[in-house]
Amino acid sequence: MIEFKAIESASNFLDPRQGFSQSTVNFQVRFDPLTGRTCHFSHFGALKAQRLDLPGYERPEVKGFCPFCGDKRDKATPKFMPDIIPEGRRTRGEACLIPNLFPYDIHSGVVIMTDDHVVGLSRFSNDRLTDSFLLGLDFLQRIHSLDPALPYHLMTWNYMPPSGGGLVHPHQQYFATRFPGNQFMDELSGSERFFNASRKNYWHALIETEISGNTRYIGKVGQTHWIAPFVSMGLLGEVMCIFPDVFSVRDFKEGHVHDLVSGLGRVFRFYEAEGIFSFNASLSFGPEGQGHFNSFFRIVPRTFLNTRDFAPDLNFFQAVLSEPICIVLPEDLCEDIRPYFK
Ligand SMILES: [Zn+2]
Repeated sequence: MIEFKAIESASNFLDPRQGFSQSTVNFQVRFDPLTGRTCHFSHFGALKAQRLDLPGYERPEVKGFCPFCGDKRDKATPKFMPDIIPEGRRTRGEACLIPNLFPYDIHSGVVIMTDDHVVGLSRFSNDRLTDSFLLGLDFLQRIHSLDPALPYHLMTWNYMPPSGGGLVHPHQQYFATRFPGNQFMDELSGSERFFNASRKNYWHALIETEISGNTRYIGKVGQTHWIAPFVSMGLLGEVMCIFPDVFSVRDFKEGHVHDLVSGLGRVFRFYEAEGIFSFNASLSFGPEGQGHFNSFFRIVPRTFLNTRDFAPDLNFFQAVLSEPICIVLPEDLCEDIRPYFK
């Protein structure tokens, strides 16, 4: 049984906006049903994503030096060791795979996704997304064969400056590691615990539960299930795509990429309508030979709180308390995004 536990509470104060009469403001603390980690839901509707000046990023004084732009790429980006990628770099359509100049682990690749330096969400065509994912996943599968001692595989993606991305030129990171982060490890061990206790796969049970609950289930695209998770990693909510038949990177086939790209395009249409210009995303894979920890893709919007002093949307909660805080209830997010999945 998956338990969705939330504590609803409120804070009272005398409100200067209403002649110092009493105001009651509700908040929630939710417990992640898999990991037990908490998340605060408050400040409902208090913030809006900020518009970014996309053409402004092309201005020379803002752009500076971009190693991913065509004329610089050949001289300024590294090449793989011959035993990893004999030809040094690999391309597919506009996508170009290079090693990360600032590697996260032993095998750390970057996919430059486009020729263009600035690409708004509407210009991530299916081809651009598909080529990028296929190129990156092919790299992950290659290093999985070359170095099976690294059990976990990740795609990570910072898109536009609010996300922490150092370059606006679209790119994704692909790497294998023994240390995929605390969240990943908590989810992996939670999945194993759930399986040992119930002999059931948590992710399959979650899909069933969310379909029947029908308040956070966004839709099905091909073989993939899209939900707004009960606990959100992002301030403006989270969308998750679960691959019920994928456990390790070995299981991920071209059809999965097509489902992912199709669903992601719908998320992007929703983001455009909501004025969301930036996000973080990940696609994660557990070790080979297990059947309890599924692959999933997760995306959270990012924004500056304002474009006057560019306050970031992460604060003491995430930085020193390691606690997500979210201003959108997943059930509301689900209702808003569902029409895009019809
Ligand atoms: Zn560029």
